[in-house]
Amino acid sequence: MLVIITIKKLNDNGSVISLYDIGYEFGKNILNIKNISDLKKFFKKNNLGNLKIVKKRPLIIKVEDCAFCDGLDMDSRICYFDAGLLAGVLENIYNKKFVVDEIDCMAKGADACYFKVEEIKEL
Ligand SMILES: [Zn+2]
Repeated sequence: MLVIITIKKLNDNGSVISLYDIGYEFGKNILNIKNISDLKKFFKKNNLGNLKIVKKRPLIIKVEDCAFCDGLDMDSRICYFDAGLLAGVLENIYNKKFVVDEIDCMAKGADACYFKVEEIKEL
């Protein structure tokens, strides 16, 4: 419920992007995640969902039983916090910058939330 209210408030202010930013800062500060296996454990331990890598190139991460949107029925993808969190954590793991896009969401009726991870290449 808290999540819905927060999302609605942020949407009202026209700033969904900030949820991503909050997640990103949060992820950057979790320093004990050293690899994907730690990341999976972190998601499980904090009841964020069941994280799986479904594809390598491009990297697609699937989150089953997503804590943010499981049971919600909305007309848009809402897991911006998760997306930002993944970007921050992956940056720590690989020492590269990434942009993470939620491409499908349980709130929209998908079987799980799917995140596409793309490396940001400096020009
Ligand atoms: Zn979602």
